[in-house]
Amino acid sequence: MTTPSSETVSRQQIFDTASRSLRPFEPLRPGHVSMYVCGATPQSSPHIGHLRSGVAFDIVRRWFTAQGYDVAFVRNVTDIDDKILDKAEANGRPWWEWVSTYEREFTRAYNTLGVLPPSVEPRATGHVTQMVDYMNRLIERGFAYESEGSVYFDVDAWVRAEGSDYGAISGNRVEDMEQGETETRGKRGSRDFALWKAAKPGEPSWPTPWGDGRPGWHLECSAMSTWYLGSAFDIHGGGLDLQFPHHENEQAQSHAAGDEFATYWMHNHWVTMSGEKMSKSLGNVVAIDNMLELVRPVELRYYLGSAHYRSVLEYSPAALQEAAAGYRRIEDFVARCATPEPTTWTEEFAAALFDDFGVPKALAEIHNAVREGNKALAAGETERAGEIAGQVRAMTAVLGIDPGQWSEGASTSDAAEAALDVLVRAELDRRAEARAAKDWAAADDVRDRLTAAGIDVTDTPDGPQWALKP
Ligand SMILES: [Zn+2]
Repeated sequence: MTTPSSETVSRQQIFDTASRSLRPFEPLRPGHVSMYVCGATPQSSPHIGHLRSGVAFDIVRRWFTAQGYDVAFVRNVTDIDDKILDKAEANGRPWWEWVSTYEREFTRAYNTLGVLPPSVEPRATGHVTQMVDYMNRLIERGFAYESEGSVYFDVDAWVRAEGSDYGAISGNRVEDMEQGETETRGKRGSRDFALWKAAKPGEPSWPTPWGDGRPGWHLECSAMSTWYLGSAFDIHGGGLDLQFPHHENEQAQSHAAGDEFATYWMHNHWVTMSGEKMSKSLGNVVAIDNMLELVRPVELRYYLGSAHYRSVLEYSPAALQEAAAGYRRIEDFVARCATPEPTTWTEEFAAALFDDFGVPKALAEIHNAVREGNKALAAGETERAGEIAGQVRAMTAVLGIDPGQWSEGASTSDAAEAALDVLVRAELDRRAEARAAKDWAAADDVRDRLTAAGIDVTDTPDGPQWALKP
């Protein structure tokens, strides 16, 4: 649409966690935005807490893109971790199959909610070379050491060093920090954390100059973000719970290695239920599929994006239904206007997003426009209503909820499914005729053809049913 001018650049304000302040956004390279967001550790199915983060940063990305920035968006997959190994082992499955299975579930959930695929989605295990390089640099500079085959980050050495800012992201005092690591073999300082873990029998491992082992958690994100985006990049994002230890340690590693690293740190708040954070370990998670029995995907997306990303989103079925009704008011208005093409957003909408991505205010502006548009329709001013609908489409597109786009997708797949049903039914009728004539070979032929096309047929008392193979 538009090219970002120096004016729009200075209008964007971002709340930067590391400085605890709103700062004007100035990209490192004019016209470009580089973002790294910590992605999933796929050890089980995603819940709406995960997807809230996905939607929040998708909106940030779409807003930059809509303004004409070229956005590089990296979101990683932590594909090796204690929990993945433990769960795979407990279920008697290979760890790589376990993590891949859930990685696909995350991808499916992101796609269902219209979260755009990242520019690249790197996995930790594919970047051991970059981690070894990072560890070499940290050891050379005196901020890491090898011990009993593991490599640790020397927190005290970094805290004493000039330019150290340990604690800046989390706001924690160094003396209060607990890394929460259970494995302490060879650790010199109690606050040190693992960059690399020495191999244990039966666990997957990769070779390094210090022996076989596997990645520590924090190192992967320093290694992958700088590999793809460079030693300095614009925005690092993630969930609030990642501030400490994960992001504090990422920044410590990278600054200690001499990288400028992220200019802005953004953290989205979590989803709560009855005031408690939704998390697998607390057992109060709502599965995506259950929510999609209550509302459509675009309505769930609207709901997850509706609160400001730095506010708690308290889940209740009533709040979800209220959000869905809000979305339907927008959708109904657009549907009543004859094929409006998206035009551009209003000044109020832009002002809301420039102010630290203020989606609630942006949504309020969309609803104002819808009310005005409905009035215009009631007054028979169809041209005016169409103009407003064009603005509504442009604004909702920035938030990933443009009714025009969502209904196109739905109608294409509905139409395709209906067409497929007609063709499969014709084949099944042919099979029934062949069976009635006791021509078993012809009946089997039909079934084989359908199977080869990826269609499962089940004979039921109500006649044959078909479904695409999962
Ligand atoms: Zn990370």
